[in-house]
Amino acid sequence: MVPTYSPAAFIPVRGLGSRVWDQTGRELVDFAAGIATSSVGHAHPHLIKALTEQAGRIWHVSNTLANEPAIRLASRLIEATFAEKVFFANSGGEANEAAFKLVRRYAHDKFGPEKNEIIAFKNGFHGRTFFTVSVGGQSKYSDGFGPKPGGITHLTFNDLTELENHISDKTCAVVLEPVQGESGILPASREFLLKARELCNKHKALLVFDEIQTGIGRCGHLYSYMHFGVTPDVLTSAKGLGGGFPIGAMLTTAEIASVFSFGTHGSTFGGNALACAVGDAVLDLLNTESALAKVRADGEFIRGRLRELQAKCDLFTEIRGLGLLVGAALTDKYKGQSRSIVQACEKQSLIALAAGPDVVRFAPSLLISQADIVEGLERFEKAVFAFQETFATAKK
Ligand SMILES: *Cc1c(COP(=O)(O)O)cnc(C)c1O
Repeated sequence: MVPTYSPAAFIPVRGLGSRVWDQTGRELVDFAAGIATSSVGHAHPHLIKALTEQAGRIWHVSNTLANEPAIRLASRLIEATFAEKVFFANSGGEANEAAFKLVRRYAHDKFGPEKNEIIAFKNGFHGRTFFTVSVGGQSKYSDGFGPKPGGITHLTFNDLTELENHISDKTCAVVLEPVQGESGILPASREFLLKARELCNKHKALLVFDEIQTGIGRCGHLYSYMHFGVTPDVLTSAKGLGGGFPIGAMLTTAEIASVFSFGTHGSTFGGNALACAVGDAVLDLLNTESALAKVRADGEFIRGRLRELQAKCDLFTEIRGLGLLVGAALTDKYKGQSRSIVQACEKQSLIALAAGPDVVRFAPSLLISQADIVEGLERFEKAVFAFQETFATAKK
C-alpha cells in the first residue's frame, strides 16, 4: 500500500459493540468507532441482518436502474429532515463534491457565471478530492498538487464581522462544518450560523452544512443543524450513515436539485443496494428520541469526567464538543502531542483519536454502554499519567 497512512502496530481482527480484539487476542475499548463511522458499534446484529439479507437478494444494478433500498433510504432521510431530494455517493468527499458542483451549477443556471464564489473557513475539512481539499481550509492537504480550482475564499470560522464584510452577490455558497471536526472539534456559535443563514438569504447564496462527521446522531440530534436551529439549503452526510459500510449522501430541496438534471452528475456505485440497506438499518437504531437522548447524556458524562481528570493532570485547556463528538484541547506545554497521547492510550488498550496536533478526540459508538464508557475513561486516565511521565523524562 502507498505510504499515505501510518497505522498503529496492532491489527484488529474482530469487534463487538465497543470492544475490539487484535491478532494476539488483546481486547481494546474503542473510543474511535473507526473515525466516527462505526456509529452503532461493531458487529451489530441488526446491521449484519440487513447486510446479509440484502447480499442474498441483489447487490448492484447501476444507476440506470433503481433499487428498493436506495428509494427506501432516500424517503426516510427526506422524512426526517428539511430535504426533499437525495443524491447518494460512496463517501463523504464524494457527497461534498456533489454538493459543491450543485451550488456552482445552481448559481450558474439561475444567476449567471459571475456568481461562483464559494466562501469556506480556515481549518475546515471537506474530504480529499481536489475540489474538496481546495474548499477545505488547510494548505497541508491542498498544496503541492498544481493549480487549484479557483473562486474559493477562506474566512475565519465563527467571525461574524469578517463574513458580513466579505460576502457579496458574487457568492454562490457558504460552506461549513457546524462543528469543525478534523481540525479540533470546534463548534460553531449559534449566532454565527444564524448570521450565515441571514447573509445567504440576503445575497441569494446557498448555505451548505458538511455534516459528514456531525450527522446521524453523533451530536445528539439526527443532524446537528437541528440542535442549532439553523437550516441549510444543502447538507452532506456520510461516516456514521453506513455504520462502517461506505456510503455518502447529499440532501437538498427540490428546487435546488432541479438543476442537477439528467446527465449532469453521477456515480457508478453511489446508492448501491448493500450500502443503502445498511444505512436504513442504522437509521432504525439511531433515529429515535431515546437513542439521541442517550448520546446527549453520554457526551455530557464524558465531558464532565474529563474535566475532573483535567483538575488532576493539568493537560487540557478546554473540554469541548457536542454529543459524542468530544475534544480535549491540549495546553501550550503539550501542543503537538495529540498523537503521542493516542499512542499512550493504545498501550492501555484504548483506541482514541487525534483531531489535529493539539486535540485528543473521542467519537465512540453512539450505542456504547455505560460500563464501556467507564472502563475506557479509566484506561484514558492511566494513559494520560503514563504519557506525562514519559514526556517529563524526555524533557530532562
Ligand atoms: C471525514 C470527513 C469528510 C471526508 O469523508 P470521506 O468519507 O473520507 O471522503 C468530509 N467532511 C468532514 C466534515 C469529515 O469529517
